Amino acid sequence: MTDNFDNKDKNEIRDTEKKKDRYCSICHRPESVTGPLVTLTSDMCVCNDCMHKAVDYMNNGGLDYSSLLQGLSNIPGLSFLNLGGNQAPAPKKKKEEQPEIRFSMKDIQPPHKIKTMLDRYVVGQERAKRIISVGVYNHYKRIIAEQRAEERAKKEAGKIPDPNVPMPVEIQKSNMLMIGPTGSGKTYLVQTLARLLDVPLAITDATSLTEAGYIGDDIESVVSKLLANADNDVERAEHGIIFIDEIDKIAKKRNTNQRDVSGEAVQQGMLKLLEGAEIEVPVGASSKNAMVPLKRVNTKNILFICGGAFPDLETIIKERLNKRSSIGFQADLKDKYDKDPDILQKVTVEDLRKFGMIPEFLGRLPIIFSLQSLSEDMLVRILHEPQNAILRQYEALLELDEVKLEFEDEALRAIARKALERDTGARALRSIIEEFMMDIMYEIPKDDSIGRVIITKEYIEHTGGPKIMLRGQ
Ligand code: ADP
Repeated sequence: MTDNFDNKDKNEIRDTEKKKDRYCSICHRPESVTGPLVTLTSDMCVCNDCMHKAVDYMNNGGLDYSSLLQGLSNIPGLSFLNLGGNQAPAPKKKKEEQPEIRFSMKDIQPPHKIKTMLDRYVVGQERAKRIISVGVYNHYKRIIAEQRAEERAKKEAGKIPDPNVPMPVEIQKSNMLMIGPTGSGKTYLVQTLARLLDVPLAITDATSLTEAGYIGDDIESVVSKLLANADNDVERAEHGIIFIDEIDKIAKKRNTNQRDVSGEAVQQGMLKLLEGAEIEVPVGASSKNAMVPLKRVNTKNILFICGGAFPDLETIIKERLNKRSSIGFQADLKDKYDKDPDILQKVTVEDLRKFGMIPEFLGRLPIIFSLQSLSEDMLVRILHEPQNAILRQYEALLELDEVKLEFEDEALRAIARKALERDTGARALRSIIEEFMMDIMYEIPKDDSIGRVIITKEYIEHTGGPKIMLRGQ
């Protein structure tokens, strides 16, 4: 009985609701005025006029809601609606002063997390990844420590310092020097780091830098690059990373008394930048001139990472180690270190001085570490392991043609061996792959029946072809 009553009540309510006037969701006129409405969703219906206007606007190159409303205001009887179409656009809010970026400890990832993120992209180089993660962590902690010290100084301004409260410790800047052969991933490591930390990055080549006044980019131009990469946001640029590649090329020339413009003098010129200096950089241009506005950027919190291949450094290290090991009772074999693959890991500041870097410059790069040269195994891993590995990119491209691309293990080894022959590290991988993938990418989409392509060692070595499988095989 109760059920019947309930159902009856519900039906009555539905009927009365149906009879209630509905309104167009766009022009808000009642159905009694517009004529029957078209129901779009359970809570949205549109009148005939608005429907037609919408279709017209879409046919004329997309729906612009503001012009649609403007058009609707011409419909008789709609003048009471304030559709806003003829109104001048609201004045834009004046851009508020950018708040200063303040780092706090919870913004910074601890070293093990930074390393885990790097692991997804950079294969091997375990020691380098650990050192760089700790270096970056300490760099941003130092910024926080400075901010705290500044806040304390502000609070205590004018007061007599309490001798029982220790003065804050000044933490040295953790700029880095990264040594590694060409193509070992120096630039890639820094690029990945900046991307993961979401800080702006500027990359420059030390060979293009000259002392101010000489032809070439002057040393400060790299800060202007960083500012541009930070969308001219000074605060963001001041917490960014600058990577100076080929730093070994500005070593002091050994065994020469000639004055050299590009070497020692550039190192001297970079000192204040590495340490922290307030400099004026042009906005939107690489050189200063009367027409370009200038902004002041402080480099004290910019992390500088210098990188270089340092050829011959191995010889300097070996000489030192061999000399040490051939003296005294524990004299070793003279060529003990000649075949040591990790010889670069044993580098000291003294070796770098011998190479031609000046002590003041090295003093401003307290973290020194080396990357390993890439072995065949590492090259194979680089081919397919990282999140955006080159082979994965090709697989994804062919997947769009609904073709599965596979590589035999021996094919990967053959590619790695070819790359090793070229002696340009992982850089050679892309060009080798592009050579043979060109034909695959051209030929495969011609034939719809192909479902799978397997790249063989023979195909890489030009002694055979790839294995082609038809769909369903
Ligand atoms: P470098 O600056 O040492 O000369 P790059 O960083 O330019 O070398 O390396 C060239 C390319 O090789 C990079 O773009 C990257 O794709 C690849 N690569 C190099 N080392 C690695 C690595 N350890 N893991 C993943 N990819 C790497």
